[in-house]
Amino acid sequence: MKGFIFAAGLLLGAACTTSVLHQSTRRADAPPLTVEASPERTARLIAAFDEIQAILEDPTFAEAIKAFDHQPLATSADESCRTTKASDVLAAMKTRLPSHVLGSRCSLLHPLSTAATTACVGSWINTRRIDRWEDATKEQRGTLINTLAHEMTHVLPEEGAVCSSSSDGAYTDEGHIECKGDQPQCNDAFLVSYVWGDLVECAYRVKHEGIPKAAFRECVMGLVNSGQVTRATLVPQFKNTSSECQSITPWKAVE
Ligand SMILES: [Zn+2]
Repeated sequence: MKGFIFAAGLLLGAACTTSVLHQSTRRADAPPLTVEASPERTARLIAAFDEIQAILEDPTFAEAIKAFDHQPLATSADESCRTTKASDVLAAMKTRLPSHVLGSRCSLLHPLSTAATTACVGSWINTRRIDRWEDATKEQRGTLINTLAHEMTHVLPEEGAVCSSSSDGAYTDEGHIECKGDQPQCNDAFLVSYVWGDLVECAYRVKHEGIPKAAFRECVMGLVNSGQVTRATLVPQFKNTSSECQSITPWKAVE
């Protein structure tokens, strides 16, 4: 009986999914987005996506992230790793983000994963993460903003590539090893995807939480160093990587 109820629930969930084509009103150049989720979750995803588009368009954001351009970021953590900087990621986001799908996926089927993204195709976000938007605190909403901004880096195709379903992403987490408190090495803090999520989350919080503009840097360093480890002191770890990425050094602490 339980199995039947579970299956019926899944069917009901699927039946409630709508597909909505969304053109952001916050940034004229934003590519159209296809949102596949329940009507409630569609509204949450669109609200968060539009907040991110407004941030991409904001000249104060472009100015603020220049303070991080001295810190090389890694396009992946494996042998294909190259370095880039925050301002270049912004330029790529504004010019190369393709039309893609933004959907929800059931957390019962993917209990441990926050999201899954295929370059040029789309991102599917765990329903529990989407629903944090309803908690309505800026911190909770910022978590969804961070996830969407992170996943958007994975949607981007490689520079100069034409998008197809087999495209390679410009920024991946290949070779990524999660930071652990007892390990002296990690690479979360240096990957484009993680840093970009933190930069956009802090821009959102500066805008909505009333954090003074001067505290943007502190907010970013706080997120980069969040969790059980202080990543600023950790040594970047890459898998058989290019010498370019081996030269990445730990983040400097806030001055
Ligand atoms: Zn990722």
